[in-house]
Amino acid sequence: MKLVWLRNDLRLDDNPALYAACQGTAPVRAVYIATPKQWLQHDESAAKLGFRSAALTNLKSKLAEFGIDFELLQASYFSDIADLLADYCQRHTVTDLYFNREIPLHEQDRDSQVCQRLTALNINCHTSSADLLVCAPIQNLQGQPYKVFTPWYKAWLKQLNNQDNTPLTAPKAVGSALNTPNTEHVKLPNSGEFRDDLWPASEQDALQHLAQFCQRRLHRYSDTRDFPAINGTSTLSPYLASGLVSPRRCLMAIQQTAFEQGWDWRESTWLRELGWREFYRYLMISFPHISQGKPFKTTPQQWPWRENPALLSAWQTGNTGFPIIDAAMRQLVSTGWMHNRLRMLVASFLCKLMLIDWREGERFFMQQLIDGDFASNNGGWQWSASTGCDASPWFRIFNPTTQSQKFDAEGKFIRKFLPELAELDNKQIHNPSNTLRQKLGYPDPIIDYKTAREHAISALNKD
Ligand SMILES: Cc1cc2nc3c(=O)[nH]c(=O)nc-3n(C[C@H](O)[C@H](O)[C@H](O)COP(=O)(O)OP(=O)(O)OC[C@H]3O[C@@H](n4cnc5c(N)ncnc54)[C@H](O)[C@@H]3O)c2cc1C
Repeated sequence: MKLVWLRNDLRLDDNPALYAACQGTAPVRAVYIATPKQWLQHDESAAKLGFRSAALTNLKSKLAEFGIDFELLQASYFSDIADLLADYCQRHTVTDLYFNREIPLHEQDRDSQVCQRLTALNINCHTSSADLLVCAPIQNLQGQPYKVFTPWYKAWLKQLNNQDNTPLTAPKAVGSALNTPNTEHVKLPNSGEFRDDLWPASEQDALQHLAQFCQRRLHRYSDTRDFPAINGTSTLSPYLASGLVSPRRCLMAIQQTAFEQGWDWRESTWLRELGWREFYRYLMISFPHISQGKPFKTTPQQWPWRENPALLSAWQTGNTGFPIIDAAMRQLVSTGWMHNRLRMLVASFLCKLMLIDWREGERFFMQQLIDGDFASNNGGWQWSASTGCDASPWFRIFNPTTQSQKFDAEGKFIRKFLPELAELDNKQIHNPSNTLRQKLGYPDPIIDYKTAREHAISALNKD
């Protein structure tokens, strides 16, 4: 018996571990392991776990068609998994375990413990890479890891250009479809509601979402991606974070679209964003301390973060009195997703104008996001707080009102998520007068932008 351990790779297509397990004639089973206590520590959101439950329910029935039985196992923490799997493998006479690697430190420790334990029982562990486009090591001329995105991106693109990026197909069936497939819904512990109208949780939906984005919006992406009222980005992040679609499949879709439309795939702005996703993973591999809640910058520095529960709560609940910030935070809480431009704005607002520790923002995001992804979230927060690698400079502090005027000029996005301001004109909506605020029951600005900015500049200027 061969066993596939599914994790953030909930797909049949381009799944190297599943593909490898299905070679040959031995029967194959698949498991997913819920670790509710660990997930609480990792701030996994109810929305993401709800999405994963639905994705696993769909995948389970597909696996059954391929002759593969699926089982949901449960342990409390990652550290309990080695014993759990050792016991499971012995009960099912498993000879080989297959899984795709995950990058953060905890996950890597968990996987080494599992491999050590199973190898001692003569069970072979086969690992593959499914989450990266480039696995080959990328180093600068001094043989060191890159710390700046642009030169890394050039080297990464060169490698992409030189290697075979063809995705694997779905594996071949290992037997006839299961006669009595277990059709029970998978329900992961701590899971909750998610917006299945926006992100139906199946691999077919993910692939269709990708195809539609490439056909209709990819060529306009660089013009539309910064405007939250426009459907200008792919909104594929929940699918990528849980692995319902692979980065290689996305790359192939870019290449095919570019070929059909007659442009060079290497110049795709969207590919550059997939590059950011991979850069943050590269950093996590190259600088493991990032996985431990530490700032990327290790030089001793007195960070100015302060505790202020009232400010933090106003930010979390969308009651700062800055319409674009509040609309963004309400988008996050009501849909589990936020537009990238707004993620940058609300993060700058929290870390710089409120001087609250970026880790509070990182944690709250993970607790809400349907696309919560440790590397991208940590990278985005450290970039915003200027503690990271190739981060925004410490003196870059977004002005929420001018950003709102620029990227939501007609206030369409604000009106959608702050209906109490819907009647305001296009000028007032970005910063309503005191009288209008009182009339509409909308809070006064919780900070004075100019003073907060000056304070932040002097607090952060410690170089
Ligand atoms: C403070 C902060 C926190 C973030 N937290 C997360 C997170 O938890 N999960 C997450 O997937 N992304 C995160 N991002 C990155 C980015 O905001 C989202 O990936 C993007 O908004 C998702 O929307 P989309 O799928 O339409 O992206 P598109 O613009 O269509 O981009 C395609 C894909 O590329 C990747 N990507 C795009 N931009 C980035 C970026 N800046 N950094 C890393 N990957 C990127 C995502 O996988 C995305 O789905 C964060 C950014 C910031 C500033």
